[in-house]
Amino acid sequence: MIEKQFQRLTHEVRSCVRCDLHQQRTQAVFGTGNPFAELMVIGEGPGEEEDKQGLPFVGKSGQLLDKILGAAGFSRQENVFIANIVKCRPPANREPTPEERSTCLPFLLLQIELIQPSIIILLGSTALKGLIDPDGKITQVRGKWMEWNHIQVMPTFHPSALLRNPELKKEVWEDMKLVVQKYREIVDPKHHSDHL
Ligand code: SF4
Repeated sequence: MIEKQFQRLTHEVRSCVRCDLHQQRTQAVFGTGNPFAELMVIGEGPGEEEDKQGLPFVGKSGQLLDKILGAAGFSRQENVFIANIVKCRPPANREPTPEERSTCLPFLLLQIELIQPSIIILLGSTALKGLIDPDGKITQVRGKWMEWNHIQVMPTFHPSALLRNPELKKEVWEDMKLVVQKYREIVDPKHHSDHL
């Protein structure tokens, strides 16, 4: 039963002390959404608000992410699961180190194994480096499909990059068009989006 396995994994993540990031966290952030989703979104790690609330992407970046997903016909309540490369907030929102990423990665790999998504969206360079290519550069690979463990992967910019540089929104929207196209192709030909 996926729900039971999820519960066990959530408990393991919340009590994890495998890396130093546990020291300053308020709580670990497991992930949220539909465990049966065909679309998974993977970001970097919890920020201040996420650490307080115990949920991923609930600050300004999260609101923007929900808006982008919503415009493409996706939502965490219905057809998406959202998780991060590291489950605990790095102090002062610094980038997680390669060691922290690799120590936390088994949790994400188990989440992916349980959810078995058809499509993964990687948000930003930490997600790209953490899951696929430690030397990857998001500016070079965004908008190009990759295949990882038989899953279609679309790397794109992190919403926090869009908040810093709104001009990137156009590129992310182009990437989302490809995601919707692929979703209709391999998951649900009737997938509805008001905008695409
Ligand atoms: S970041 Fe991951 S590995 Fe490190 S303490 Fe938190 S849950 Fe454990």
